[in-house]
Formats: sequence, structure tokens, C-alpha cells
Amino acid sequence: MIERTFFMIKPDGVRRELRDEIIKRVKVWSFNIVTSKKLTIAKPLAEKLYAMHRGKPFYDGLVRFITSGPVEVFVLEGDNIIMGLRDLMGTTDPRKAKAETIRGDLREENVLNHEGIIKNLVHGSDSIESAKYEIPIFFGKEFKV
Ligand code: UDP
Ligand code: MG
Repeated sequence: MIERTFFMIKPDGVRRELRDEIIKRVKVWSFNIVTSKKLTIAKPLAEKLYAMHRGKPFYDGLVRFITSGPVEVFVLEGDNIIMGLRDLMGTTDPRKAKAETIRGDLREENVLNHEGIIKNLVHGSDSIESAKYEIPIFFGKEFKV
């Protein structure tokens, strides 16, 4: 089934200039970019994106991390892309991520930032419901799934 998902290169990925390497990996899987833009996320937007994590120990640090510098956000489209992209990204902790995943292959020596937040380069919606919630935070309703 052709799906759309929300994808983001986080501040650590932009800072390390890994954009082209990450997008190359996305394209190998025939995932297409519907639209994209670069921005620095404002705090209210970050709180909306990570609303499901409110109250968790890493929440405040995560909001600070994601607003700490420019990110690039995308709507991607492809067959079974939601789970396909999650597989391509690798697991949340890059130290546990498999080879040939973005988080596994491109992880930096020091995976945690100064607040103990996991720097894992990328974000991707984890379900159709998440994609429906996340895409309109950043893009107009014409891009909705
Ligand atoms: N995170 C963290 N510590 C944790 C869990 C998550 O720093 O114990 C950060 C990490 O950057 C992660 C983000 O919070 O990507 C969102 O967490 P989630 O569980 O949704 O992981 P993801 O869906 O990104 O794999
Ligand atoms: Mg998540």
C-alpha cells in the first residue's frame, strides 16, 4: 500500500552534514520526497510533535535538543513506507541499531548529548495515526495522508 510518512533529519544530522548520505539511503528504497523544508523548530511545535512523551524523564531534554539547531523535515511517500522507513532508520538507541541502518551506520562516538538525550539523527512516524498527526504540524493539509 502506498503510504505517506513524516521524516526529519534532527539537529545532530544537520550539524554533521549527513543530509545527502541519509537521503541517498532513503532513495535506494524508492521512497520519494513529496515535499521538504529546513527550519529551526520553535518550542510549541516541538511540544506538539512530542506530546506523547510529555511527563517522561527525557521529555524536557528532548524538546531542548530538537529545538537546538536547524532540522530538515520531509513528507515521504512509498510502498509500506511507514514500517519500511522505521526499519531503515534502526532502533532508537544507535548503539543497539543493526548494520545498514541509518542510526547504526552513522552513529557518532558519543551517542548521548550533555543532558543524556539520545542523538539518533532521524525521526520517522511510527504508524499511520502518527503520520496523520505529525505531517500537519509542519506542512499544509494538502500533504496529509
Ligand atoms: N529518547 C531519549 N531517551 C529515551 C528515549 C527516547 O533521549 O530513553 C529520545 C530519542 O532522541 C528518541 C526520541 O526521544 O528518538 C523519541 O523517542 P521514541 O521512543 O519515540 O523513539 P523513536 O520513535 O525516535 O525511535
Ligand atoms: Mg517515536
